[in-house]
Amino acid sequence: MKIYILTDLEGASCVVREEQTVFGSKEYEEACLLLTRDVNAAIEGAIDGGAEEIVVNDLHGARRGFNLALGELHEGAKYIIGGPRHRRITVLDESFDLAFMMGYHAMAGTQGAILDHTMSSRAVVNVYINDLRVGEIGIDASILGCFNVPVALITGCRKAVEEARSLLGNIEGVSVKEGFGRNFALCLPPARSRILIREAAKRAVERAKMGDFKPFKVNSPITVKVEYSHPNYADALSNVPSVERADARTIIIRSSDLLDAMRRLAWY
Ligand SMILES: [Zn+2]
Repeated sequence: MKIYILTDLEGASCVVREEQTVFGSKEYEEACLLLTRDVNAAIEGAIDGGAEEIVVNDLHGARRGFNLALGELHEGAKYIIGGPRHRRITVLDESFDLAFMMGYHAMAGTQGAILDHTMSSRAVVNVYINDLRVGEIGIDASILGCFNVPVALITGCRKAVEEARSLLGNIEGVSVKEGFGRNFALCLPPARSRILIREAAKRAVERAKMGDFKPFKVNSPITVKVEYSHPNYADALSNVPSVERADARTIIIRSSDLLDAMRRLAWY
C-alpha cells in the first residue's frame, strides 16, 4: 500500500488565524510544528494499517515545500521539500493506492469554516470545474483522480470534512476544530487530534484494502471557470493562450484534459 499525503496549514490543529499561516512569526513556527505532528500521527496510523511507502507533499502557500518542521519529520515517510516548482503536485503517479489530505480547509465563501479560501484568499472568489463549485479539496481530488488515486482521509475544520464527504463520499475524516466564525473555533487539543488522526489513518488503509474509496473522476471535455475578486487578476491572464475572458472578473479554460487545464492555472 503506497500513500500520497498532501498537506496544507490552515486546517492543522489549533490554527485559526491568518498570522499563524504566514512565514515570519512565532505563531507560524508553532503552526508548522502542529501540522507536522498531525502528519506524523497520520503516518503512524497508516503504518499501523499496513502502509509500505508514504510520500508527503507540503503544499501550503508561497513557502510551498518549507512548512514542515524538519527536525520532527517521521522516519516512516519521504518528503517533497522546496521550490519554486515546475509542478505543484509532483511525484504523483498511478503507483499510489490512496491519498490523505492533511490540514485542509473549506472552499472560499463557506460560512463557519476556519480560514476558508480557494488557492488565494485575496484573489479567488469561486472556482467551477464543469459547473461544479469546488475548493482546494475538489481541485486536488480531481488531479489525484487523473491518476486513479482516491482520497481516503481528510483532516481540517468540521466544514472542510463535510465538504470532502459531500464531494467524495464516506471517506475518513477528523474534524480537529469547529468554527464559530472564520477565525474563531472550538478546538481539540493537538494531543487529542493526533489520537483521532492515527486511528482514522489506520482505518483508511484497512478500508482501502477492501476497495472502499473511489477516485474522483471529472468527465471530459473540461471547463474550469475562475471568478476573481478584481478584474486585475483576470487582466493578468488575458494574454495567456487559450484562456477565455467570460467577464471583467472571470476567466474560462477549456480542455479535453483536466491536468492540462490545471497546469495552465499552475495548480498541477
Ligand atoms: Zn490551501
